Amino acid sequence: MNSIKIFGIIGGDKRQLFLAESLLRDGYGVILAGFDKLKGQGFNNLSDVRAAALFSDAVILPLPCVRTDKSINAPFALQNIYFSDDELEALSQKPVFTGMRGRLLRVYPKLANALVYDYAERDDFAILNAVPTAEGAIEIAMREYEGTIFGSRSLVTGFGRIGKLLARMLRSLGSDVTVSARKLSDLAYIQALGYRAVNTESMKSAKGYELIFNTVPSMIFDENLLENTDRTALLIDLASLPGGVDFESARRLGIDAHSAPGLPGKCSPKSAGEIIKKTVFSIIEEVNR
Ligand code: NAP
Repeated sequence: MNSIKIFGIIGGDKRQLFLAESLLRDGYGVILAGFDKLKGQGFNNLSDVRAAALFSDAVILPLPCVRTDKSINAPFALQNIYFSDDELEALSQKPVFTGMRGRLLRVYPKLANALVYDYAERDDFAILNAVPTAEGAIEIAMREYEGTIFGSRSLVTGFGRIGKLLARMLRSLGSDVTVSARKLSDLAYIQALGYRAVNTESMKSAKGYELIFNTVPSMIFDENLLENTDRTALLIDLASLPGGVDFESARRLGIDAHSAPGLPGKCSPKSAGEIIKKTVFSIIEEVNR
């Protein structure tokens, strides 16, 4: 992969635009495709998917790479993007960096033997991506909660990558933070770091919190727990689909619950684009070693 001079960037949101800009600043060529809606808005050198697939040395696809209708995730494209056979042939001869490789291969099994790398499944990506996610969650809380985070009582369920960073940010804003986890070692860390600790698996009540953030990718806030949650709480579900909140029950109970997917792309596309670039370059470096 030493000889990559031109990246094809096919589909994606604002993250990919910042990624393209950053690659250009680094001296790479970039062929951007799937952004036709932006034509005339300062983006006049947009190309078609075929050119990006054929005339690049490597291709970067978005996260998630394909939608449920099997088209490439390209919100700025005028028409849905589906790869043709000759585009797949071109892609199978060069490195392809994508989010959610498994989904891409299910839709395009012809790429099964190609050099397809998943940047999103890597820990280095997910840890850095947790920063814009946690900041995005704080942004939603500031917008939707009528009080201040300072002086609030907050609960973060899950002490993984996002939970750890979010708990720290909430505390630095002056919230009284409780964190839930299921491993004894995590519960000990939570206590050692000065938060209140609760066990996610034995949590029967979430009363007493004004702000609740779920990061656990499993049904935590089911009907029972929601029955034992303050009606005035703001509940933000950060976990990927199907998420960890029974929104139907939350609505019925009058709890203000929000599903908040894709925060890095929505709230911090510049940083999120840089994180994709950094991870892609790390993969290239590892392969070249
Ligand atoms: P993570 O590092 O894997 O942390 C997940 C946490 O949930 C861990 O504490 C884990 O505990 C716990 N957990 C998992 N399954 C559980 C269960 N069945 N019962 C109790 N606890 C459980 O994940 P992350 O990087 O923080 O991401 C959290 C979620 O946010 C994921 O769904 C991820 O895809 C999503 N995400 C959302 C956004 C967004 O914009 N909203 C952005 C990036 C990622 P153990 O360590 O004990 O397993």
